[in-house]
Amino acid sequence: MIVVLKPHVEQERENQLIEWLKSIGLGVHVSTGEYQTVLGLIGDTSRVDTSLIESLDIVENVTRVTEPFKCVNRKFHPEDTVISVGDVKIGGGNFCMIAGPCSVENEDQIVNVAKAVKASGANMLRGGAFKPRTSPYDFQGLHAEGIRLLKIAREVTGLPIVTEIMNVEDLPLFEDVDVLQVGARNTQNFDLLKELGHTGKPILLKRGIAGTLKELLMSAEYIVASGNENVILCERGIRTYSDYLRNTLDLSAVPMLHELTHLPVLVDPSHATGIARIVPPMAMAATAAGADGLMIEVHNDPPRALCDGPQSLRPEEFDKLAGKVRAIREVIA
Ligand code: PEP
Ligand code: MN
Repeated sequence: MIVVLKPHVEQERENQLIEWLKSIGLGVHVSTGEYQTVLGLIGDTSRVDTSLIESLDIVENVTRVTEPFKCVNRKFHPEDTVISVGDVKIGGGNFCMIAGPCSVENEDQIVNVAKAVKASGANMLRGGAFKPRTSPYDFQGLHAEGIRLLKIAREVTGLPIVTEIMNVEDLPLFEDVDVLQVGARNTQNFDLLKELGHTGKPILLKRGIAGTLKELLMSAEYIVASGNENVILCERGIRTYSDYLRNTLDLSAVPMLHELTHLPVLVDPSHATGIARIVPPMAMAATAAGADGLMIEVHNDPPRALCDGPQSLRPEEFDKLAGKVRAIREVIA
């Protein structure tokens, strides 16, 4: 349920109402906009007397939220959420460009790719240290050593680092990581999501391999309801009957998610397509569709990459793409 207050309500009156709502067992999420305040009520609102609240002179209107996602619902929080990662802002018109290899392989590789993508305008560095691979015989990542190397690359370039966490037990290793990624295979690992909700860290939450938008939003709800509002959504393609592409990039998810939620929405055209030459056109399309940023795999030597070489751009290809993305941003601004 949401309660929209009239403009310029006295703080004391607002506080009295919040205290009363809490006293009847409801959680209250306060969203203070430029003109109006919206109170999002969480919990069993079925017995709340809507007309009683509506009759208060400080209340403009009361609406029941029928969607199962509450905290991440745009009705609860009409303005875009802007997430800060160091100096980088994501959402609310701030575009972010995350680039880097699928997996961290060695110091030279990650530091050189980090320098190159930074020079091209990327503002965050990605690199997997824990890799969810379909085959147990494939490279699984460097684990703690991978995170150590990412921190070296951050030290050298100043780029915040984004890396995937697969397991709750690994959390202590991620203490000094800037953005924790939840990959498509873990989007519904609810224990992991709840735990990440207690960290307060920015979380990049990918859409599940065959996940609906509602399922993605419910996964985000797990994190936010556990106390962490810093969630960035990421469309990364879904499993359909696509035969020539790794997945199907659902770009209509971008404007739909913007309607449904206040959280920023990124697009990862690398995992969505699986083919390096298809990545630039889809990255441009995602930008035009209103994405709040892109996550793109870049490798210094794609044929020899230990993971996802065929979908990785070379640094010079990324450089060219980054220029085109900037041009599109100017056109749609
Ligand atoms: C990744 O970003 O490295 C990754 C494994 O992505 P996804 O979870 O989308 O497959
Ligand atoms: Mn990858």
